[in-house]
Amino acid sequence: MGIKPLTKRERIYEGKAKRLYATDKEGYLVQEFRDELLNTNGEVQAAISGKGESNNGISCFLFQYLESYHVPTHFVEQYSPTEMVIRKLTMIPIEVVMHNIATAKLAKTFALPEGSSLNYPILEYYLKNDKLNDPMINEHHALALGYAEPEEMRTISRLASKINAILKSYFERRGFLLVGFKIEFGKLEDHICVGDEISIDTCRLWDKKMNRRLDVDRLRNDPEGMEKLYRELCNRLANTS
Ligand code: ATP
Repeated sequence: MGIKPLTKRERIYEGKAKRLYATDKEGYLVQEFRDELLNTNGEVQAAISGKGESNNGISCFLFQYLESYHVPTHFVEQYSPTEMVIRKLTMIPIEVVMHNIATAKLAKTFALPEGSSLNYPILEYYLKNDKLNDPMINEHHALALGYAEPEEMRTISRLASKINAILKSYFERRGFLLVGFKIEFGKLEDHICVGDEISIDTCRLWDKKMNRRLDVDRLRNDPEGMEKLYRELCNRLANTS
């Protein structure tokens, strides 16, 4: 259901990759996806032309896709090529990370060959706190330190597994292996909803057709390669056939 007319007002938050704006409608925000990535001091660390549009487009699509499977999200509607209207949530300051394949830190920690399949997906939680370097936590920390209630953690775990199943099969049909992803949740009144973004920056994908690891970190020093990768992924992912 559309909520127009809605007008974007002042900027209320500047993050490392996105900005949030107030609107003239209580409880609704505009989330802008930027081409620039800032460091923790607010300086531009990298800029990839077209990244904001690509991440906004994919996020808009995937939020609607999840909603069609009854996963509650903060998405309302696309506002511009780089912006979406969202419901304002009380964010739970936990990064929820799902792994389907052992790579990077996970492979190193458990001395597994890079790229090993896991018998079951692994769900991890990290506290969102730059000063503490986002330490890994478990449900007990989340409850003991007051970040969430037991029922909320149960819902988050259940939704994260459901989202994994939905996205895995979505990507699979487009020739990608969903190696893992990061997601954030928040509360709308008492209900847990998916917030933030689901995009190329928050999903780790391998291209099964081309047998390529689509690791955006690998291309950090190759802005042209990055631009091409974002465009290509956006085109392939938005293919709804
Ligand atoms: P990090 O990069 O560590 O996630 P950040 O704050 O720099 O932190 P950005 O993605 O640049 O991250 O900024 C977006 C911010 O908006 C995040 O802090 C996120 O938690 C917050 N956010 C996302 N969705 C909502 C929402 N629906 N309501 C309120 N805040 C939200």
